[in-house]
Amino acid sequence: MGACLSIAGPLPQQRALFFPDRAMPCRQALKGQPCRRKHCTYEHDASRSSLMQLLAVIGDATTTLDVCVFTITCNELADAIIAAAKRKVRVRVITDDIQATSQGSDVSELARTPGVTLRTDHQKEAHMHHKFALVDGTTLVNGSFNWTRAAVLTNYENVAITSGAPGLIGEYTREFERLWRAGSDSKIRP
Ligand SMILES: [Zn+2]
Repeated sequence: MGACLSIAGPLPQQRALFFPDRAMPCRQALKGQPCRRKHCTYEHDASRSSLMQLLAVIGDATTTLDVCVFTITCNELADAIIAAAKRKVRVRVITDDIQATSQGSDVSELARTPGVTLRTDHQKEAHMHHKFALVDGTTLVNGSFNWTRAAVLTNYENVAITSGAPGLIGEYTREFERLWRAGSDSKIRP
């Protein structure tokens, strides 16, 4: 029986996050520090914040972070990407060329962050509409969730987080690499 298990490999670990969240995370809570504001209306409890749980997954990246999303306007997620680059994680971001220059986009800030390499689709007719990320090449984050503040607080969105599923994660990895090769280096400048 043990032999069968070893051939099959470890079972995939999967969980789902759903949005909208009740509130954005408290800045102090995100830093793991106690909040001293008397009537802070931001979220402190990670178990009630899908965004805090998603940020924790990105925060666990130790080697690589590959992000392929339509748009990034959620500052907390942009900060998590920048923090990953600062701790020497190799960060690659593929995003939509038109969204990248829209108001509120965090993409130009990412483009000037050392350690973050950015590419866009450079197509007028089609959008880079994916919403997935690969953490350390072993954990897949995907779903309807756009990396925007509106998706956190307003929309009904889902995110599935999967690890221990090399077949599925391999397919997403190959697609990311294919899109990366197809995308040109970003012309986005601060
Ligand atoms: Zn607070």
